[in-house]
Amino acid sequence: MYYPEPISKLIDSFTKLPGIGPKTAVRLAFFVLNMKDDDVMDFAKSLVNAKRELTHCSNCGHITDQDPCAICQDTSRDSSVICVVQDPKDVIAMEKMKEFNGKYHVLHGAISPMDGIGPEDINVPDLINRLKDEAVEELILATNPNIEGEATAMYISRLVKPSGIKTSRIAHGLPVGGDLEYADEVTLSKALEGRRDL
Ligand SMILES: [Zn+2]
Repeated sequence: MYYPEPISKLIDSFTKLPGIGPKTAVRLAFFVLNMKDDDVMDFAKSLVNAKRELTHCSNCGHITDQDPCAICQDTSRDSSVICVVQDPKDVIAMEKMKEFNGKYHVLHGAISPMDGIGPEDINVPDLINRLKDEAVEELILATNPNIEGEATAMYISRLVKPSGIKTSRIAHGLPVGGDLEYADEVTLSKALEGRRDL
């Protein structure tokens, strides 16, 4: 079907989003055309600003608009416990639960030899540096409950063990193969509570 170029470009952009098929992309593009000018401008600005103003915290790797991030800067939090997660969205899921008062470390991925992703390709070296500089007593390994997440937790646990820092793995109230970010708050809270030593 023929669309004027600005519309086909907009449709293409929507198609790049996860879960948006060609039909939905067309529907969204035409929806945007019918939106008020101001709303479209706000929408466009939010997209650009989110990308431009957000960076990764140089300490923990979480997304932030200030470096170090607000969590790293918060002195009321317990810096002796670090919860290690795969994705910034996992930090947000944990924070919603409001039960964890330690710090975080975001790996931005998991070890996956099949895909050629090793420890150096994710945020592991920075974690090891933090353990040298900060008085950390426990690492809670909250990587996803799938093969890659388990492998990553085991790797970090073995790496850290000689230093005497305790490592624990969140319990499996979480669905195996699922992502941490999709767990509801009660499940996540139980998983954290029932963590076991590695
Ligand atoms: Zn941070």
